Amino acid sequence: MGIPLVQQYRVARYVLGRRLRGIKRYPLTLMLEPLFQCNLACPGCGKIDYEKDILKRRMSTEEALRAVDECGAPMVSIPGGEPLIHKDIVQIVEGIIARKKFVYLCTNAILLKQKFGPLLEALGKPSVVVPFIFPKKAGGHHALARVQLPACARPAGVPDPGKKQAAVP
Ligand code: SF4
Repeated sequence: MGIPLVQQYRVARYVLGRRLRGIKRYPLTLMLEPLFQCNLACPGCGKIDYEKDILKRRMSTEEALRAVDECGAPMVSIPGGEPLIHKDIVQIVEGIIARKKFVYLCTNAILLKQKFGPLLEALGKPSVVVPFIFPKKAGGHHALARVQLPACARPAGVPDPGKKQAAVP
């Protein structure tokens, strides 16, 4: 999957700006994990092994956007758990896009259309890039047109949608 020109330009400008100011170390990508819970249970996944009280925790929109502002990186990667089960994920992503950052959602895509259909339609272009791998039988394969291996994919393969975790609050 190619990197859009506008993204290359903005990242290059960011890097150049840091170098011109003599800054030697700077973040390129913020890894934002707004939750660890997931609606699947892939074998070997370390995230979903956390205690229940940790799995129930959610980062608020304010906390997420504050982290984005504090970090300043031009790209924000949002893995999980499954970010789309966060009730405020759309606001978080919209807030990041409004800051002219590039968003990478690492998602199993089960809730993709339900949560992001209107936003993706409004943006027209994939300003939200969705890297994921998912079994065809679960219906996620339609979005594989722009597939990129997900950070959360397990070598054993593809998550089994039949192995859902307990209900997500
Ligand atoms: S989809 Fe990703 S986060 Fe969810 S259980 Fe599978 S590997 Fe873990």
